[in-house]
Amino acid sequence: MLGERVIRGIGMTSQGARDRMVDRLRELGIRDERVLSALRWVPRHLFVDEALASRAYANTSLPIGQGQTISQPLTVARMTEALLAGGVPERVLEVGTGSGYQTAVLARLVPKVYTVERIRTLSMRARNVVRGLGLHNVRYHLSDGSWGWAQYAPYEAILVTAAAERVPPPLLEQLAEGGTLVIPVGGHGQPQQLLCIRREGVRFGCRRLQPVHFVPLVHDGGVS
Ligand code: SAH
Repeated sequence: MLGERVIRGIGMTSQGARDRMVDRLRELGIRDERVLSALRWVPRHLFVDEALASRAYANTSLPIGQGQTISQPLTVARMTEALLAGGVPERVLEVGTGSGYQTAVLARLVPKVYTVERIRTLSMRARNVVRGLGLHNVRYHLSDGSWGWAQYAPYEAILVTAAAERVPPPLLEQLAEGGTLVIPVGGHGQPQQLLCIRREGVRFGCRRLQPVHFVPLVHDGGVS
C-alpha cells in the first residue's frame, strides 16, 4: 500500500513518530488504551498536505484547505475518550468530516461511523484516504450536518468537530436513549467550551469538558 511505503520511507512520519505522539498524549492525561492504540495506528500524515507531513505528529492543528483545519491530536483523543466512556457505541454520527482523521480514529474503535461534511472536496478526499487504510465501516454524506443525518438515527454517540453557537436540536433528537453527544459550543470569536451531553430519558445531562478552539459550524450555508 502506498501509505505504508510513505511511512517506512520518511523518518518524521514513521511508526516511531506516532509512538512518541502517543507517549506525549499519555503524559497530557489521556488514559483510555483503546483511544491511544487507535491514535498509534492511524497515520495522521496522510490526512494533511505532503508539505506539512513532517509536522503531522506534533500536538497541533494544521490547515487542510478550504479554510478548515485538522484537529489537534490531544483534542481528538479527549473527544474520543469522552465518547467511549460509557461503553463502545454501536453507531456514531460525526458532523464535520474535514480531513477524515477523526473519522478514521472512530472507524478503528466502533462498528459503524456515519460522517457528514458540507464541503465536497474535503468529503471526497477524506473518503479516499480512509478507504485507502482499509476502513470500510464508514458512510459519507455531503450535507449541512446541523440537521444530523435522520436516515440512520438514532445514534448511540454523536461527535461534532466544528463549533456551534448553540446545540442544534436535531442532534439531540437523533441521540439514542443513554447516548452521548460531544460538541464544542461558542459564538463566532467567542470562547468555546467542549460539552458532553448525555440523554437520560426525557432529560439531557450536560458536562463541560474543557475550553477548545474549533472552526465554526456553518448553519444553513448549503454545501459547497
Ligand atoms: N474532524 C475534522 C475536523 C475538521 S474541521 C478533522 O479531523 O480533520 C471542521 C469541519 O466541519 C470542516 O471540514 C467544515 O467544513 C465542517 N463543517 C462546518 N460546518 C458544517 C456543517 N454545518 N455540516 C457539515 N460539516 C460542517
